[in-house]
Parts: sequence; structure tokens; C-alpha cells
Amino acid sequence: ELYANGTPNRPIKQSRVDSKWSDTTPYTSKKKLQSWFQLPDGKWELGTILQTSGNESLISLAEEKVLKVNSESLVPANPDILDGVEDLMQLSYLNEPSVLYNLQYRYDRDVIYTKAGPVLVAINPFKKVSLYGNDYIESYKRKSMESPHVYAITDIAMREMIRDEVNQSIIISGESGAGKTETAKIAMQYLAALGGGSGIEYEILKTNPILEAFGNAKTLRNDNSSRFGKLIEIHFSEIGKISGARIQTFLLEKSRVVQCSEGERSYHIFYQLCAGAPPVLREKLRLKNADEFKYLSQSNCFTISGVDDAEQFRVVMEALDIVHVKKEDQESVFAMLAAVLWLGNVSFTVIDSENHVEPVVDEGLTNVATLIECNIGELKLALSTRKMRVGNDTIVQKLTLSQATDTRDALAKSIYSCLFDWLVEQINKSLAVGKRRTGRSISILDIYGFESFERNSFEQFCINYANERLQQHFNRHLFKLEQEEYIQDGIDWAKVDFEDNQDCLNLFEKKPLGLQSLLDEESTFPNGTDLSFADKLKQHLNSNSCFRGERGKAFTVSHYAGEVTYDTTGFLEKNRDLLHLDSIQLLSSCTCHLPQAFASSMLTQSEKPVVGALYKSGGADSQKLSVTTKFKSQLFQLMKRLENTTPHFIRCIKPNNLQSPSSYNQELVLQQLRCCGVLEVVRISRSGFPTRMSHQKFARRYGFLLLDHVASQDPLSVSVAILHQFNILPEMYQVGYTKLFFRTGQVGVLEDTRNRTL
Ligand code: ADP
Ligand code: MG
Repeated sequence: ELYANGTPNRPIKQSRVDSKWSDTTPYTSKKKLQSWFQLPDGKWELGTILQTSGNESLISLAEEKVLKVNSESLVPANPDILDGVEDLMQLSYLNEPSVLYNLQYRYDRDVIYTKAGPVLVAINPFKKVSLYGNDYIESYKRKSMESPHVYAITDIAMREMIRDEVNQSIIISGESGAGKTETAKIAMQYLAALGGGSGIEYEILKTNPILEAFGNAKTLRNDNSSRFGKLIEIHFSEIGKISGARIQTFLLEKSRVVQCSEGERSYHIFYQLCAGAPPVLREKLRLKNADEFKYLSQSNCFTISGVDDAEQFRVVMEALDIVHVKKEDQESVFAMLAAVLWLGNVSFTVIDSENHVEPVVDEGLTNVATLIECNIGELKLALSTRKMRVGNDTIVQKLTLSQATDTRDALAKSIYSCLFDWLVEQINKSLAVGKRRTGRSISILDIYGFESFERNSFEQFCINYANERLQQHFNRHLFKLEQEEYIQDGIDWAKVDFEDNQDCLNLFEKKPLGLQSLLDEESTFPNGTDLSFADKLKQHLNSNSCFRGERGKAFTVSHYAGEVTYDTTGFLEKNRDLLHLDSIQLLSSCTCHLPQAFASSMLTQSEKPVVGALYKSGGADSQKLSVTTKFKSQLFQLMKRLENTTPHFIRCIKPNNLQSPSSYNQELVLQQLRCCGVLEVVRISRSGFPTRMSHQKFARRYGFLLLDHVASQDPLSVSVAILHQFNILPEMYQVGYTKLFFRTGQVGVLEDTRNRTL
């Protein structure tokens, strides 16, 4: 026996799911068998076995290399005839090198989509590939084309929505730069083409350039990186025409407005405005070139190769028209953007021996006052003092330089994030006006994937938590529910284990001793610091197997996708995310209606004073939900919504870190495949019966195709007669108490005949 059970030792990082991936099928010793051999650098190479004796094999590799190796280190390769199969389920040997090879085989031929059982895998081509456009859409619609594609999966969602009268969701995940946002747009295009007609589809498509301008930025990983999560719910009428849409966004990265690292940019819209505002608007907003604004100049990056910011600005203005943002509102929006930029140029001078400061009255300060339409004196006070309530008295405390700078930046961040939310609200109003909701919808989720960097902060903490939740949804759907259903229906199906991440979710969510509760608690303590927070975690959570305390302010979480060490620096501050009441009052005193709206939205957020408790005694800050708590509740809402849909999963894969076409880094791809459990899904789907239909439905749907009369008309008898007539092999289906279960691809023949007959 050449290939004994188990995987060979690998130099690449082992993952928890690893050993289960490789095929353990005994591989009879035959000469000339193709086999994978792993080179010391981790790369897999295809070789031919020349000879085997004992547990040693002689293998011939490329360049006439012949090696004597331990037979157990060889992994079976698939026959050539299976090169580039459309669905990984078709592979005879399912193991890591075979999957990597199959994906690469297709990728090299610009075929970027592959099915992994029910999941669509999309590998970013980083170049234009001719797979899109009306001809393709038409072909998928007519089903003359059925190869794996975003169009194909979207088509299935559309059909299932109409056929089953169940809402659908398309859940897109992957690392930053893997192609999620592009994929979401491709799905939207398909829906617009199929469900269009009322005109609302153009509005829906035009939300993309707007949200990308305000919510995307150039990062080191992606020139157009989304810095927020997005769910768009597209509603349809009974006959499948688009009737409206609703967008929900998650956790915009606001720190980017005031701070971004070398080589990255702030949000696109700032550069677009500076480059593309027409002269009259420039004059009105006192605009200058991007490099004259401190918030933009700090990272030394102003342009993106291949992108014309001025042209993009025109695209955004036009899109704003299309989604019915009134011209005067558009001007207010641009005024807010300019105000944020000018805020960054506000500087301070020290006025006394205690390092207290006052803003310098220069064009920065006066322009901010003009743009948000407030009194300049009040602006000065809001930026350099803080009112405190002590007993029944109000005292005014002067701010130091760092306090004043923080106050200024907090104001800029708040204005920007309120502006973003306000825009989304306007868009939602426009997409919903007078549109009758039918309850049928397809939701597309484009949300940041799992992140693990050198240094991981509060943002990664939130993002990775969201990914744990989504992973559980994925697991539940594909594995757990599947198994439960088989068992419930009395189907003989070997139980398959899957990675359950409930322990990790508990680590985050448990009350009162979980990461989130402890963070919220520490955030309400006046003397709480990032260090005291880290200490508390170590004190209370060490018994959780997913948690490990690290030295100093750090801790490690064992996520489903790997271990991540978080640095708690800035956690409390970011979690509180407070804007001083002085700043809110300043905004509500503005003549311009936008800052007023922002102020009142901030004040109404205070139903549940989680982190506000501290400030009630201090007296003068807004009470509001902590960021963690708010995010968690948004996420729960999202999960609740997704649970009522039939999900379709797309896993985007980034083939290299250089954003470059035709470079396929095996190790990088493998890491991502492991992270999202693609191979496990294939393994389970292969051994299961993924297609199912109730006896009634099956009989109703295909009964009319019966050629012979069936004596008994009960649904089960009719169903069995159909199965016989179509020669569906016994190993291809199982009859449950209430449903019929099929292996993949079996119902296709029936559907084709039905469609031809109808
Ligand atoms: P993510 O949203 O996952 O961070 P994006 O969707 O923004 O990644 O994709 C990053 C970049 O990759 C895009 O700007 C585009 O240049 C390229 N890209 C992604 N998908 C495709 C595709 N299907 N065809 C061509 N280029 C793509
Ligand atoms: Mg994106």
C-alpha cells in the first residue's frame, strides 16, 4: 500500500482541519502513477512513480530529476482527464495539491470561477477578463451557459426566490483585495439585467460609485479597499421585477479620516473633490489642492495609478443626481467634506504655563466656521475647552494641546461618519419611495474578511468577531442543518464532523465574563486603561481554550482561521468613541441643516448608556452605546435576517499580494482555502445528498412526465415511478420519510426534460 492513511509532514503551517482533507483511499501500487511531491520550499510538484519497494518510492520529477522518497510523503494526483474540472467534487482524489492544481489550471486559462460543491470559488484575475457583459448575461439567463460564474449563482438565487418563495442571500467573503466588492457588483448587474424594467435598477447600480467614493480608500493591499461592510437587500415583485432596495452598512473605519499610514490614502471622495470640483464650487468651499490639507498630505500619497479623481468626481455627482440627492443637499455634503479637510489644518498655540491652548485664528479656523455655518467664537471654545458639571455648577476646563488635537480630530471623524450614514439614509429613501414591498428579496453581503496582521487592533477585533459569526452561519447551513435533516428524515448518512466555533464565539460574547463584556465594563471605569483591560482578560478568561494572555497589553485569540494576537492599545478609547457634548452642541448650533441633523442623531443614540455611565457623573458628555455593543447588535440583526434566507456562498481568493495578474502563489491560496473551509465543504458535499425535495413537490413537479399510468396516486408512489422511468441509479438518491434526497447533478435531467416539455 503506497499511500498510507494520513497526510505527510508538511513544512507549511498546519491547520486544524488539515488532516481531514486528504483522501485516504488506498492507492494501489501501480507504476507510472502520477503523484504529488512536496519540495522543501513548500511547493507541490507533479511526478511519476517509477518504482516502489517497502515504504520507499522512486519518483521522477521535472527536469529529469529522480528522487528516492518516503512513500508516505506522496499524495495521489488525479488523472489528466480530470485536469481543470468545473467542480472540485469531481476530483477522484481530494487533497490540497490536487485542489491547488485544479484551481491554477483554470486560472492560467482565465477561468477564474470554480465550484466547490455548493460554494463558488472566485480567484481575482487582477485584469480584465472577458467573462462579463450582456452576451454572457443572456447566455446564463437562457441556460445555454452553465459553467461556474457569479451569474450562474445569482441566477440560481433568482430562480429559487421565485420557485420557493423564499428570500435569498449571496454571502461574499474573502481577504481584503480578494475581489468581494467587484463580485458583488457583478451579481448586482445580473439582477439588474434580469429584474430591470422599472428604472430603479439604474439607481441601485449608481449607489456603487457613491458608496465607493465615500467608503473606499487606497490601502497597501487594495487600491480600492472598502472600509465598511455592506448588505444590500434588493426587493422583487411577484414576477421577479426589481421594486426597490435597502442598504445597511457596518462599522466604517473613521480613524482613516484623520490618520492614515504612508502610501495609503484617506477616502477617495476627498481627492475627487479637490481635483474635480468646478471653479464656482471650489471658490465657495475655499478648496485647495489635496497636498495642502494636512489630513491628506500626511501619508504622502495623492493619486492612484490608472484613476482620474476629477473624472470620478463627475461620476459621483451624476450618481447623486440619479439617487435623488437634491443639488442643495449635494452642496451641503461637499461643504461638510471641505470642513473636515479644513479642520485638519486648524492649529493651536499655547496660552499659559499649564500648556493650555487656543486655536490659531487663520484660514483653517475661519473656513471651518463658514462651511458648517457656526459662530467662530463658539468653534474656538468647542475646540479648546470642555464644560464640566460639578454638583450644580458648570465649570469650564481648558484643554492641553493633545486634548485639543483629539477634540478636533474627534469632531472631524464624527462629521464624516455622520455624513456617510446620512448619505446611506438618503439613498435608502430614494430606493424605497413608493415601492411596494413584496417580502421577496435577494440580499448581497460584501463584508471584510478575516484579518491577521503584524499588529492587530480594535478594528481587527471587531472584524474577526464578525467573521466568526459568519463562519458559524456557513457551518450551520452547510453541515449542521444538513446532518440534522438527514437524521430527521431517516436517511442513512455517515456522520461527518465539522469544526464548530461556538467556543470562540462564547469567548467574545459571554456575559459577564467575555471579551466584549469585559471591554465594555472597563470602558465605563474612569480609571480603566488598555493595560488594566488586558490584565482583566488574563484574570478571567484564561480557562477558555480559545484565549491566551500575552505579555503586557496583548492577548491571543484562537480563531477558526488561525491565531491572532491583539494589541489592546487604543481599545478603550475606540470602544467609547465619545464626542464631547461641547462638540455636539456646537453642531446643533450651526445654521446648516446637516450638522444639526448629525447632532440630533448623536443625541438619540443614547437609549442605553453602556459607556455613558462614567460621563454621567462627569456630567458633560453624550451617553451612547459602546462601539462593540452597537456592532454586536447590528451583527445579530444581520444574522437574524440571513437566517431567514437561502444562502449562496462565494469565496473570493487573492492569488498574490502584489495585485498583479497571472501570478499564483500556492501557499497564499492554500491559506485562504483553509481559512474558509472550502475543502471540507467539498468533502462533505461529495458524501452527501445536497439536493432534496418533498415527495409532494417532486410528484407535482415531474409527475406529468410519466409515460405509464401509476396505479396508486400517492406522492411517494408517483415519485418512485418517476425515478424508475428516468433510470436514476439507486446510489444516487435516498428516499426519506418526507423528502427525496439526491446527489448533485441528478435532478438536472428531470429539469431539462420538464423545461423542454413545458
Ligand atoms: P475586496 O472588496 O475583496 O477588497 P475588490 O473587489 O475591491 O476586493 O477587488 C480588488 C481589485 O481586484 C479591484 O479593484 C480590481 O482591480 C480587481 N478585481 C477583482 N475582481 C475582479 C474581476 N472579476 N475582474 C477583474 N478585476 C477584478
Ligand atoms: Mg471591498
